[in-house]
Amino acid sequence: MNFFKKSDNGRHDVIMEELRQKITSACMPEQVEKIAEQELSILAKISPTTAEYTIGITYIDYLVCLPWNKKTEDNLNLARAERILSENHYGLRTIKERVLEHLAVKVLMMNKKARILIVDDEEIARKNLAHVLTKEEYEVAAVADGEGALRELQASEFDVVLTDLRMGKIDGMDLLDRIKVRYPDTRVIMVTGYATVPSAIEAMQKGAYHYLAKPFKLDEVRAVIKKALETKTTRANTKGSVLCFTGPPGTGKTSLGRSIAGALGRKFTRIALGGLKDEADIRGHRRTYVGAKPGRVIEEIRRVESSNPVIMLDELDKVGRDFKGDPASALLEVLDPEQNRTFVDHYLDAPFDLSSVMFILTANVLDTVPAPLRDRMEVIEFSGYTQDEKAHIASRFLCPKQIREKGLSPGQVVFADSAVAKIIQEYTREAGIRNLERKIATVCRKIAKASVDRQGAFEPVRITAETVEQYLGKRKYRFDVIEEHDRIGVATGLVRTETGGDIIFVEAAKMKGSKELIITGSLGDVMQESAQAALSYIRSNADAFGIPDNFFEHHDIHIHVPSGAIQKDGPSAGITILLALASLLTGRAARRDIAMTGEITLTGRILPVGGIKEKVLAAKRAKVKTMIVPARNRDDVEELDEEMKKDIEIRLVDSVVDAVQAVLV
Ligand code: ADP
Repeated sequence: MNFFKKSDNGRHDVIMEELRQKITSACMPEQVEKIAEQELSILAKISPTTAEYTIGITYIDYLVCLPWNKKTEDNLNLARAERILSENHYGLRTIKERVLEHLAVKVLMMNKKARILIVDDEEIARKNLAHVLTKEEYEVAAVADGEGALRELQASEFDVVLTDLRMGKIDGMDLLDRIKVRYPDTRVIMVTGYATVPSAIEAMQKGAYHYLAKPFKLDEVRAVIKKALETKTTRANTKGSVLCFTGPPGTGKTSLGRSIAGALGRKFTRIALGGLKDEADIRGHRRTYVGAKPGRVIEEIRRVESSNPVIMLDELDKVGRDFKGDPASALLEVLDPEQNRTFVDHYLDAPFDLSSVMFILTANVLDTVPAPLRDRMEVIEFSGYTQDEKAHIASRFLCPKQIREKGLSPGQVVFADSAVAKIIQEYTREAGIRNLERKIATVCRKIAKASVDRQGAFEPVRITAETVEQYLGKRKYRFDVIEEHDRIGVATGLVRTETGGDIIFVEAAKMKGSKELIITGSLGDVMQESAQAALSYIRSNADAFGIPDNFFEHHDIHIHVPSGAIQKDGPSAGITILLALASLLTGRAARRDIAMTGEITLTGRILPVGGIKEKVLAAKRAKVKTMIVPARNRDDVEELDEEMKKDIEIRLVDSVVDAVQAVLV
């Protein structure tokens, strides 16, 4: 049956021919080329007015446009990489070191000479092959029999084993069997003078990489070895290549990822995992309807036109809340070097090799990341910046960048140090520098507008602490700690949140009633239990605190942590709750300028907690002068930079009694 009118027929043929040519010139893997051709032959038979036709054409178009074999050449010069990372980022010393170590491993893997083992009982053949392959820059060992080969393999790793089939006790086939079991990554190439089809088939079935019949041409051997190594090197390169950057927002995770791509000379792209709702967003939609699309990974690869970009998967910890399907398994398929060589996107319906993509994950916290994913990542922790670091970054990077981006010239706007310090302290309260950058952008935008209003007759502007308010309005943050006085029933605590460390005030109140404990302020289960433990501790030590025995019979107690809209949890607020209660019940005010963190036990010990660094930074941001930290966190405190410990006294405390003595006036 012919569906077409005559004129349609002509156009249809032209389209088919164009697609055919695109398929041949797309350098697709053989298997995919076949799929495309099959699809094309189906299309040739159906009417261009059907939906299937459109779906088919879009599909083939997609296939031919993917960068199947298009890669950027890696630049693995470490000195250059170090320079690029330093030029774009202030500080982050240990993080840069970790990243460079990671890249160094890559360089070594790339430059490592491949090792080849020749197994042949004929001395002349063995020597000849060894001679030729050594000249090809391989590291070669040669042995006369299977036993010798096993000894060599046990002593060190080989990439390729070139073995004769007929030998003494352990023949080539036996050797192949044992290698496949013990060294599955090693490629085995069979060589024999008695080439018969059945033995060739048997060897390939058992997992040999290739089969050469004697007499063979040297070029043939060279080509086969090269191919075997190519598939193997990429594999070794990608193992453990999933870096995961964790830390509060605005601490430079994304921009460091971008710099790594720059240093390697690779393309860079980002996928925000937090925005994905469905497995199909990762694995693609089946192409049964018009508008079906591949997943984001394949989409990005097509967009950057390279099959080895650096892909940053952002917000790993935000995935899964309302995700349809299992995000962890879909991500594993993408990330796991064992699986991603043959990643099948549902739309493509053909394997795409993701093994040369460098994935970098980012997350604010790791608590919600599934264990199988965590196992495959090399975690690098980013922490918040100190006031000094922020000031440096602002004057070296953020101000010049914003001045440039808002169309102003460097001489037109000058930020005085005092202005930057004021913006940091009074207009932002964050671990990173995202809001700081926004505030600087706001100032620059206002100046840009003024400059346009005055049509060029514009004096250079110097922003100082005094003039900041003109641009940004009244200050945003007050210093709740130093600007207020000590109170009864209110204690200052430090907690860790997704956005870094934060200061909290725990309030306690008592009223006539009957032994009820009321807890409010969006506290999670663990925090509620801490409150109960704190109360029990005080009740069981009522005498020591000088609280009448029958007090609890006739009173209710209410514990509240303001900022009720924010969910809070974790055991580390235990000591703060206890001190708010102790202050309330003893009638002694709690020092507002001492902030504390620590888990408590019913016997009054203080247990160590996490996030010390972020908490110290939060304390300093809030102008706290003294911090109480569990004595068992001594190591974390000792690890802090001197810069970090400046202007704050950190007291290590072992027991609740010591904390009470320090805090209650
Ligand atoms: P994240 O990904 O951690 O949320 P970003 O990488 O988006 O943070 O950083 C926010 C901004 O701060 C970017 O403009 C970035 O260039 C800048 N920035 C962060 N850390 C540094 C640093 N150490 N030196 C220079 N600029 C930085």
